[in-house]
Amino acid sequence: MLNLQDSALFRTENYVNGKWQSGSAGSLEVVNPSTGESITKVANGTAADTEAAVEAAAEAFKSWSKTPAKQRAALLRKWYELILESADDLGALMTAEQGKPLPEAVGEIAYGASFIEFYAEECKRISGSTIPTVANDRRLQTYKQPVGVVGCITPWNFPSAMITRKAAPAMAAGCTVVLKPDAGTPLSALALCELAERAGIPAGVLNVVVGSDAPAIGLVLTQHPKVAKFTFTGSTAVGKILMAQCATTVKKVSLELGGNAPFIVFDDANIDEAVAHCITTKFRNGGQTCVCTNRIYVHSSIQQKFAEKLKTAISEVVVADGFTEGANIGPLINIQAVEKMESFMEDAREKGVEVVLGGGRHELGENFYQPTLLANISDDMRIANEEIFGPIAAIQTFETEQEVLEKANATEYGLAAYFFTRDVGRVMRVSEDLQYGIVCSNSGVFSTEVAPFGGWKQSGIGSEGGHEGITDFYETKFHSMGGIDI
Ligand code: NAP
Repeated sequence: MLNLQDSALFRTENYVNGKWQSGSAGSLEVVNPSTGESITKVANGTAADTEAAVEAAAEAFKSWSKTPAKQRAALLRKWYELILESADDLGALMTAEQGKPLPEAVGEIAYGASFIEFYAEECKRISGSTIPTVANDRRLQTYKQPVGVVGCITPWNFPSAMITRKAAPAMAAGCTVVLKPDAGTPLSALALCELAERAGIPAGVLNVVVGSDAPAIGLVLTQHPKVAKFTFTGSTAVGKILMAQCATTVKKVSLELGGNAPFIVFDDANIDEAVAHCITTKFRNGGQTCVCTNRIYVHSSIQQKFAEKLKTAISEVVVADGFTEGANIGPLINIQAVEKMESFMEDAREKGVEVVLGGGRHELGENFYQPTLLANISDDMRIANEEIFGPIAAIQTFETEQEVLEKANATEYGLAAYFFTRDVGRVMRVSEDLQYGIVCSNSGVFSTEVAPFGGWKQSGIGSEGGHEGITDFYETKFHSMGGIDI
């Protein structure tokens, strides 16, 4: 049993219209992926529960959208402060339901909260405009107005930050929110609602419906006439379905989808730095992030040196339960994720891969997988093409800048890309030619609330974070004012 300092953060009911409610489909189990033990049961909401939440959000929109930005900002700021005060408890809830190491979970809480702080500030600075008139009896203006009710669906890999990256700009802009978190990680979402309530955020502004029937809940959020905008983070396959559903009512759509990040090491790179960042970008969250390094390309002249250092670094990665001190990676989210690693390995073995390290299940339990290093990769292997989403690192080599750019861009994804070189001209050329929404040179560290995060191609539509992350929650209205006496 979890021992929280503030046990009231352990919420198990849905939060709709400011009330804690049971689910119409009974309850569903939340399981610790590390131990396989049940943590608790939570409300199992349905399409009807989601419709009720949309109605509540539409009603709340009437007053929230008219609440001055300064007042909305003060409430959001209070929410941000309460989250930071509870960071240790919120981190523990996350580690229990998601498995990531506790310090990483607490770090996500701070990262997620930073979006609330940022958009509380940003919403005070969104302005319309006055356009020079075309006739003296007319005046031309634009207003920025909140779009309305926003439907959100979020994944399990960042159970807190993926929620605040959507809810904070939406609420700051004056929109109200109905959100379905992943059914595997609902406790983080419900604890955020408890703190929003304590912060004084009015009933109906933030609604969370947990439910095991994601397609049914998704239909409501993508097709209900009172939902004005839909925003999703998850796989590209599901994103496509939801985008098509949104077409029926022409909703505004934002999508944060899958990735296939290249990690390129040129011959002049600082190899030690590149190895260190390869470890963090590959193995963060057990390899289960959309911006995780997926394809490692190393110049042939330094391949041997890089591979040896990477092997040493990977052998030092500590796999353990997320509550164990010193753990670097915890379990994968479920047995299906482990089986996916096994199918990648089976395919790669058939095609002649060299297994340098790992390559199988970890002795700690059925959801644990060994940090793995592979060499002798061929273009037809699935690991060279698909989003791995697990702790398998695979090194490929290249000869020229042109060749590696073509390989890096030869994917339908376009989220994050990393490259290492000390040549400033190459830094500019490569950063311009990579077809990705996020490019990182000489570092794997980039996530921040002040900059836009978003994918090109089939990695998504729109951005979260930065000034860009709030703009889609506003409509622009043009006011043409006539009849002015001259
Ligand atoms: P997923 O299977 O697409 O699930 C994401 C969310 O969608 C969950 O809440 C899930 O609900 C729900 N869902 C699944 N099928 C649905 C349907 N037919 N209708 C409505 N909702 C549905 O993705 P995942 O495996 O959990 O997450 C990993 C993926 O997310 C990776 O591809 C990763 O790259 C991507 N991701 C992208 C970003 C980004 O910012 N670009 C960030 C994080 C993750 P239930 O699980 O409750 O059934």
